[in-house]
Amino acid sequence: MTRPAPIVTDDNASFWEAARGGKLVAQGCRECGRLRHPPRPMCPECHSIQQETVELAGTGTVYSYAILHHPRNPAFTYPVIAVLVDLDEGVRIVSNLVGVEPADVRIGAPVHVTFETTADDMAVPVFEPDGPPA
Ligand SMILES: [Zn+2]
Repeated sequence: MTRPAPIVTDDNASFWEAARGGKLVAQGCRECGRLRHPPRPMCPECHSIQQETVELAGTGTVYSYAILHHPRNPAFTYPVIAVLVDLDEGVRIVSNLVGVEPADVRIGAPVHVTFETTADDMAVPVFEPDGPPA
């Protein structure tokens, strides 16, 4: 069983299309240049609706995390670690942390993006630590 596919909307279609291709992107405002995530129609800074898709490096640090205990879904591998990652470009993203035991997760740890396949041949970005556990 694989993860459920993400729900694609007009606003987030470019994000999920990039993820399917193994790329992490954010929306960039064409007026003021601010990057934003999650995708939405208007810039929170200058209210412009002119936007572009900007590819990100996929590197950042753990801002915070939580271990999800229940209810369990057979489509996921446990433990599931929900993580907030501060990406190097200044965007914060909600994701999962993989390849690490919950006891070894550290706030501020450097992480990088990888992708997990979902149903419907799509993919979701998840993050794994850069190095061995501290
Ligand atoms: Zn703007």
